[in-house]
Amino acid sequence: MGEIMVIKNTKSLCPECLTVLDAEVYNDKDKIMIKKTCAEHGEFNNTYWSNPDKYIKAKKYGKVGIGIENPQTIVDSECPLSCGLCVEHESHTVLGLIDITNRCNMKCPVCFANAAVSKKLYEPSYEEIRLMLQNLRNNKPVPTPAIQYSGGEPTVRKDLPDLVKLAKEEGFTHTQIATNGLRLARLPSFAKELKDAGLNTVYLQFDGITEEPYIKIRNKKLLSIKLKAIENCRKAGLGIVLVPTILKGINHDQIGDIIRFAADNIDIIRGVNFQPVSFAGRTPTDEVESQRVTVPDFECMVEEQTEGQIEIGDFYPASCVAPISEFIEAIDGKDSQVTFTCHPHCGTATYVFVDDGGIIPITQFIDVDRFFSLLTDSTGNMEEGGLVNKARIVARATVELPKTVDMSKSPDSIDLRSILTAVFRDRSYKSLGDFHNQTLLVSCMHFMDPFNFDQDRVRRCVIHYAVPDGRIIPFCSMNAIYREDIEKKFSKPFKPE
Ligand code: SF4
Ligand code: SF4
Repeated sequence: MGEIMVIKNTKSLCPECLTVLDAEVYNDKDKIMIKKTCAEHGEFNNTYWSNPDKYIKAKKYGKVGIGIENPQTIVDSECPLSCGLCVEHESHTVLGLIDITNRCNMKCPVCFANAAVSKKLYEPSYEEIRLMLQNLRNNKPVPTPAIQYSGGEPTVRKDLPDLVKLAKEEGFTHTQIATNGLRLARLPSFAKELKDAGLNTVYLQFDGITEEPYIKIRNKKLLSIKLKAIENCRKAGLGIVLVPTILKGINHDQIGDIIRFAADNIDIIRGVNFQPVSFAGRTPTDEVESQRVTVPDFECMVEEQTEGQIEIGDFYPASCVAPISEFIEAIDGKDSQVTFTCHPHCGTATYVFVDDGGIIPITQFIDVDRFFSLLTDSTGNMEEGGLVNKARIVARATVELPKTVDMSKSPDSIDLRSILTAVFRDRSYKSLGDFHNQTLLVSCMHFMDPFNFDQDRVRRCVIHYAVPDGRIIPFCSMNAIYREDIEKKFSKPFKPE
């Protein structure tokens, strides 16, 4: 057990009045805590992270991004009150989000989008959505590559297929919708219609493999509806990412079962992105503390519930993949690679290979640290040398990188060495086809709430909302600070159908 010590100073929010406050992140023996004091509402002392060793390890994989060259706002107050994006933002947009409605065909107690309850209809028009898409694509030097339509429930909009087509027309290579799956389950032709329109992925709310979590979290039995939605997507060949909201005491014990469910349906499920619930400022602090699930808590639960098939050490911060983009950027000499530079404490991920029903994290047969350090060294060497030197470095890396795969531990049904050789030789993600078909991405993004809000993290956010007035707002700022005002400003009275 370590001593109590301050790790860093940052800024956070008062959970009551959202004032930006000085905050201390400190190590309290077996936990990382965040503490701040509001002149009006007193001291708040909350869990930030629950394993100091993993906190330090994750930091190693942090990477400050290049931000954007054409900010939409000027910095006139303390971050995060100048969103955005402002010139101080440290990452470009990787996934753009547009809330296309606040209507919903359900009323979940955990929803932060507050649809019918607000009595206001927030529903940007087709033309407004086009402008928001263009705004995201205009980001320089990296145009936003991927878009997610969310809400509310995006499928309640009849023009959703047209909006998917519109995103493709505007140049997005990846399109997805975040949905509860009700309409996909009810209308078998809908998945095909979306697929034909160009939709790549369904981000399906999926809280467990029994009815209990749905009854408790969503007030409704939904399991058979989710299974039907998955079946209809399968028939249409529309890929799915399962998105469970994790609440301690309600479904935290289903994490292993959800991963196994995804593995059993790997023909259509591409990954599981677990999202620990975030809290509104009115939640009592003791409830926040007892229900909080941190990234290391999640990793422990995965290890326990998969009986060690996936271990804590198999997880890496999502930002660890940044060296791949930098390497490709250095080879191609262009400054426009999409680079995942979210803060290393925002989330965690691993790829698991599914072989004959078994789950094997790829970290168990690839030396991840050696792989990334080879990439980083090669990038650095290329930046220093001329063209001939570059060709030599690329040729050497194409030979050396695949050697980080330990063939004696690698499952027989995948030749990861050959796949890596093809990827780095052709520099085409197409070569990853077979790999993607046999692997699942298991990830967890820990969205912030005012209790654990950290300015350092939000500044590097890569997931951004486009809103009708031309701003592009990082996800965690949007939900902690801006959503209510934006919906008020751009909504009209809601008349239920
Ligand atoms: S979160 Fe980013 S865009 Fe918002 S104020 Fe901070 S640096 Fe600027
Ligand atoms: S959405 Fe929140 S948790 Fe995710 S990258 Fe952005 S700041 Fe981090």
